[in-house]
Amino acid sequence: MEPITWHDEADVVVIGSGAVGLPAAIAAREAGASVIVVEAENDIGGHAITSGGNVPLGGGTSAQKKYGIVDSPDLLFGDLTDWTVVEPNGHPDYRYNDREIVRAFADNNVPAYEWLVAHGVVFVDKAPDERGGNAVGNSAPREMHAAAMEWPLIQTGAPADPEVAATMSTGNGLMRPLEVAARRAGVRILLEHRMTAIHREEPTSGRVLGIAVTHAGTVRNIRARKAVIIGTGGSQGNIEFRRMFDPRLTEEYCGLAGMPWSDQDASGELAAMAIGAALWGLANQVAEFGWQITKPGLIGCQFNYVNLQWMPGSPVFPKARASGLRVQDWHDVIHVNMLGRRFYDETGLHFSANNHGSITAYEPLSHRNASNITYAPNNWLNAAMAGIGETRNGGGAIWAIFDAAAVAREAWDPRPPNVDTEAGFFFSANTLEELAESIVMPHQRVPMRGADLQATVARYNTFVENGIDEDFDKSEPRYKIETPPFYAAWATPVLHDSLAGLRIDAECRVIDMRGAVIPGLYCGGESAGGFGQHGLARAICQGLIAARSATGTPA
Ligand SMILES: Cc1cc2nc3c(=O)[nH]c(=O)nc-3n(C[C@H](O)[C@H](O)[C@H](O)COP(=O)(O)OP(=O)(O)OC[C@H]3O[C@@H](n4cnc5c(N)ncnc54)[C@H](O)[C@@H]3O)c2cc1C
Repeated sequence: MEPITWHDEADVVVIGSGAVGLPAAIAAREAGASVIVVEAENDIGGHAITSGGNVPLGGGTSAQKKYGIVDSPDLLFGDLTDWTVVEPNGHPDYRYNDREIVRAFADNNVPAYEWLVAHGVVFVDKAPDERGGNAVGNSAPREMHAAAMEWPLIQTGAPADPEVAATMSTGNGLMRPLEVAARRAGVRILLEHRMTAIHREEPTSGRVLGIAVTHAGTVRNIRARKAVIIGTGGSQGNIEFRRMFDPRLTEEYCGLAGMPWSDQDASGELAAMAIGAALWGLANQVAEFGWQITKPGLIGCQFNYVNLQWMPGSPVFPKARASGLRVQDWHDVIHVNMLGRRFYDETGLHFSANNHGSITAYEPLSHRNASNITYAPNNWLNAAMAGIGETRNGGGAIWAIFDAAAVAREAWDPRPPNVDTEAGFFFSANTLEELAESIVMPHQRVPMRGADLQATVARYNTFVENGIDEDFDKSEPRYKIETPPFYAAWATPVLHDSLAGLRIDAECRVIDMRGAVIPGLYCGGESAGGFGQHGLARAICQGLIAARSATGTPA
């Protein structure tokens, strides 16, 4: 191999400044290592800063103790490995996790929570609950909420209203204090540095030596004397990668939750696989529970995840282009596919997941648990993603169709910057025929025929007259669509979580395809596999574990 010219170096090089990256960087620095974080975007935070800041860390934290909640690492581990637990769709996600990874997670919940508090994160002062988490165990409430405090919100560009700043949960309140702690500790954060490759002594053997990054059009190599930690946040934004799990996920699913702040382009997974790394625990990625794919709660904009609305003051608003219209009542629209046909009850929901309180009564290891959960397949998504035609995968563009009367009922203003007319995520016309024919954009793969949309709406209007939806059993369809102008707003499913990724062990060391540790390479969070739990808690714990094993420091 050609000798590498190193342009920079540190003991530990962390890729990504999200929920894995910043905790890993701070912990490694505090263990005495010099640390460089490379971040592809022009600001820190990743999906973690866009998140709701709901942090399900339990196991007996000081917050749980304060409110008299009994929990322990063993109880948490027992919950997360209980073979009798199923999700509301019947899928037993707990069975497909790697026990040593789950054990390490359970043992690190309390230290991680106390570490966040010690590093400036303020949690809302109330009893831990179950709001926002999923698949976090059924024995005790474990969810804590990072408070917005005075930090400017990336969603709006302004701080939260002072009246709610201490009670409003947001990822801004999690990640900005960690950024301050990292900079104070002497972590070097290199923004707009995108990792493109991981260097190893030999192509698939030997130690990991460092990484290559692109920055301002140049390629630079950064040497890692001790370790490279991958915290790149997953793979759902990479069309070819995500289709290895689910062939339906073609290009129209372009509104990934967390974008356009940061992507999940699988760059960490691909760079590690190129030097021999394996993947792990793949079943969870397609298990159809939780928030892995969601029904959009905002319509008429590309980035339409229900819990993330970009407002004009946001630093990424030029990329987001529109805020979207928030739907209060799904009776106000019908959903049609590219052919202008309805496909499901519009009030249908996306997948859900169990949590503390959703199995009544939960009894550890009882065979009755599966029958004590309410079966809820929530199939709106599967209907929306059903293929059209014989060979095309993916359900194509989905449109919410409504009229001026719905606009009045919802009190919407269907104009930019609320809707994205510029990039083709919103259309309006005075007749349904004109509306259908105006829908021209890259993901509308076939023209919608005006007569078809007219026929769909006419049939739906008869359902409203008769009070019965003969096609999809929507309960008491309420409103005819008959008052011009008519509208078509983007309402295509949103991808969210990566629940499978690189094979790691309990110390977050990356494992290769022969089952051997890749020396000097670590990973956590959504780019790591073996534990399909959604969100921040897993990422934060694994960031801390990776840093401690990379620097040889005990927890
Ligand atoms: C809108 C939204 C709300 C959410 N709410 C919650 C919640 O309330 N509770 C919860 O538990 N979870 C929540 N989540 C999930 C949670 O935010 C993520 O699971 C978590 O942030 C994953 O951490 P991570 O470090 O793996 O990835 P991230 O936090 O996304 O960090 C990855 C970072 O790596 C950077 N990166 C990627 N590739 C490269 C590269 N090649 N070179 C350099 N940098 C790179 C990215 O730009 C990004 O900054 C939410 C997610 C979203 C999108």
